[in-house]
Amino acid sequence: MTAVDPTLRATRTTCPYCGVGCGILATPDHSGGAAISGDPEHPANFGRLCSKGSALGETLGLEGRLLYPMIRCSKGTMERVAWSDALDHVAHRLAHIIKRDGPGAVAFYLSGQLLTEDYYVANKLMKGFIGSANVDTNSRLCMASSVAGHRRAFGADTVPGCYEDLDEADLLVLVGSNAAWCHPVLFQRMVANKLKRGARIVVIDPRRTETAGDADLFLGLKPGTDTALFSGLLVQLADTGALDSDYIERHTSGFEDALARARNIAGSIGATALATGLAEQDVADFFQMFANTPRVVTLYSQGVNQSAQGTDKVNAVINCHLATGRIGKPGASPLSLTGQPNAMGGREVGGLANQLAAHMAFTPPDIDCVRRFWKAPRIATHEGLKAVQMFEAIGRGEIKALWVIGTNPAVSLPDADAARAALKKLELFVISENVRSNDTVRSGAHVLLPAQAWGEKSGTVTNSERRISRQRAFLDPPGETRPDWWIVGEVAKRLGFGAAFDFSSVAEVFREHAALSAFENNGGRDFDIGALQSLSDEAFDGLAPVLWPVRLGDIEPQQRFFADGGFFANDRKARFIAPEIPALRTETTAGRPLRLNTGRIRDQWHTMTRSGSSPRLGQHLPEPFVEVHPGDAIRFGVTDDSFARVVTDYGQCILKVAVSERQQRGMLFAPIHWSEETASTARVGALVAPFTDPFSGQPENKATPASIVPYEYVFRGFALSRVQLELPDHVWWARVTVAGGYGYLFADNADLARWQPWLRSITSSDLAEYKDFGGGVYRAASFAEDRIDTCLFVGPAHDAGDWDVVKNLFAADALSDDQRRMLLSGKSVDGLASAGPIVCACFGVGRTTILAAIAAGAGTATEIGLQLKAGTNCGSCIPELKRLVARAGVDKPEQRQLAGVAN
Ligand code: SF4
Repeated sequence: MTAVDPTLRATRTTCPYCGVGCGILATPDHSGGAAISGDPEHPANFGRLCSKGSALGETLGLEGRLLYPMIRCSKGTMERVAWSDALDHVAHRLAHIIKRDGPGAVAFYLSGQLLTEDYYVANKLMKGFIGSANVDTNSRLCMASSVAGHRRAFGADTVPGCYEDLDEADLLVLVGSNAAWCHPVLFQRMVANKLKRGARIVVIDPRRTETAGDADLFLGLKPGTDTALFSGLLVQLADTGALDSDYIERHTSGFEDALARARNIAGSIGATALATGLAEQDVADFFQMFANTPRVVTLYSQGVNQSAQGTDKVNAVINCHLATGRIGKPGASPLSLTGQPNAMGGREVGGLANQLAAHMAFTPPDIDCVRRFWKAPRIATHEGLKAVQMFEAIGRGEIKALWVIGTNPAVSLPDADAARAALKKLELFVISENVRSNDTVRSGAHVLLPAQAWGEKSGTVTNSERRISRQRAFLDPPGETRPDWWIVGEVAKRLGFGAAFDFSSVAEVFREHAALSAFENNGGRDFDIGALQSLSDEAFDGLAPVLWPVRLGDIEPQQRFFADGGFFANDRKARFIAPEIPALRTETTAGRPLRLNTGRIRDQWHTMTRSGSSPRLGQHLPEPFVEVHPGDAIRFGVTDDSFARVVTDYGQCILKVAVSERQQRGMLFAPIHWSEETASTARVGALVAPFTDPFSGQPENKATPASIVPYEYVFRGFALSRVQLELPDHVWWARVTVAGGYGYLFADNADLARWQPWLRSITSSDLAEYKDFGGGVYRAASFAEDRIDTCLFVGPAHDAGDWDVVKNLFAADALSDDQRRMLLSGKSVDGLASAGPIVCACFGVGRTTILAAIAAGAGTATEIGLQLKAGTNCGSCIPELKRLVARAGVDKPEQRQLAGVAN
């Protein structure tokens, strides 16, 4: 495999979104863009991409990019400075604070989007040379409980299995994972196994997500009861003779204690059913399936990890695999699905505050080993502050300098208002970023350092199965952007550590990282890529995707761990863990009678700084919403497509309401993606309680006590513009990128007469207007030559104009006379109905069109694909197509609602 295919002129690289780690072929168009397709040779995806990956070509524009270093000047504004001035300033201020208050007064907050080499250099500077372990990452919010669970059970953060297990398993158990939307390419691989080999799929989740559509058994358990379910399973395995006693005896310890605790928690099928809220028959069916199927893979994700009991949940799952010896064997393993593209690379270098480096810990021998390798006399000797605690320490004024690299904590941290307030107290607040503005930048940054983005930077990432892949540059870096490893290294040199940070290339950083992994290793540590420590620059450039370990001298590649034991504790045995009796951190109350679960939607990623720039991805679910069970909707007086205020003890948001039977009664669900850059009041992180798991420090994002009340808006509307707008303060709004500009979906209670002056203030062109203030309608548009420049539609909910129709007209380069005449009617010239909310992002096929095809006889997702092409490219919408087919003809309120949401 070579880096560049001379025929295609494509660069092989890796997707920057989720932890599946799909290979991509990027073919630059030499105008700053690129054609994107799946890499048929990459073993993570074999050419397939999901909707997000497929739309990457739409996200390469430079609008909003941070292109030059900036420093806040004495007048309070950010001003462009030379790189040398910015780096001198950061180093000088850091040195001053460290000298005055000690190394514990500074911290780095990193990101699972960073390349491994960026992570390595930042971790080395903080832990090895500044002498503090206050370096943590947004991966703390993603999979820290899996790390802690692995370390407790295996003695190391080892992923035992690999993706091939998904092809070879006979039973796939998904726990707290909406893989259909959050890891779509892997989920399609599981569905392919089901179709080809008859593998069965069990989905365990409080929400009936799109993933459940393909399940043979769906277990909609009560929130926070995964540990009870897997404790019940362990008891059942023991009581029905399904244990692998030989494996337990030879390779593990602690089984009897773990079994005794499991009996306490859920000692029978009946007790398990009672604890989880499931039907006894469903519990019995699941237990029987698991017990009778040697090839079983249990996959878990945010629903397990993002919990104040997340580590126990992970260990309850692992206990069942250890007890049956189903670990590290073809088609049989637990498998943590990481959310981020390089959360695993961050774990490898030690980019978490409770790791040192290269899967070494804060033990005296490990500290000594790393100290000698780095020649770092001031190495940190104890763990640092994990993400939530780090921001609490900032709030208390204990941490005075923070460097945020590639993440947006003012949106994504729990209790995000408190996190944002803390940022404003910093004496030195440095951000390395791709974008000029986001909620974190606007929280008082003092220095902005322009980092290279995906497509411009080069290095490695590791996916959920331990596969290291290259991200390669295929675009020229714009402005004065620089790689993150270079930026951190330059500051390190200015702090006086030049000899240790004299890297001249990313390959050099990688070689040192690989060498550290093998340094005095001798098989005692799982992470060993020593065979790659001497790669030439050319060999690094051409490096094919490779699973670790890749030890020096290995003859055969090792795909899996632990089939024959060989764990990383001193006695080489795994530990069964007796979990605590499961209990959520807080009870609901009369004032907060519901629990708020947060998560992702299919076509957006994190805080939308990249995915939000794609018009295609913006079509699916353009507004922030809260999903409510129909019974709760009646109880709390909210209705579908209306608005509601969601309140917790930490904050409040106003969101669109989506009533859905897929939501469990007593639970709310709201997606995490919107920020103050993209919506008026939908920063859901501000609602989330900052409770953390005692072992992993991962916050509980899935069960904050909450209340919901209706919120009335008289008017609805939308605006479309070639440039970003600032809507009046009285308006609820959400911004979405559309073809040709920006769309704003809004709701309002103010007098309609206030819109005309606002519109005149933002456009100098003549306005074409339609006013019916008595009927509550105001519509206006301005034109630039033959195309719409700006337009605004306001009216009652049933008469605000057809967003999809007007959006299509806005995208046109030139309107016909008829189109221009009909524009303010908000209807299409040909009288055709709108396609409805987009289900298939690849081909822009809407729900109304799909329902029409179903009504005309299309009876399967395949038949819909044949007629409309929907679902025939990336396949991400296939679960949604199946659900629409299944529900066709059933006159349920859900049919009129948003097309779905994810874990
Ligand atoms: S599944 Fe989608 S988002 Fe994840 S790596 Fe693959 S293409 Fe990217």
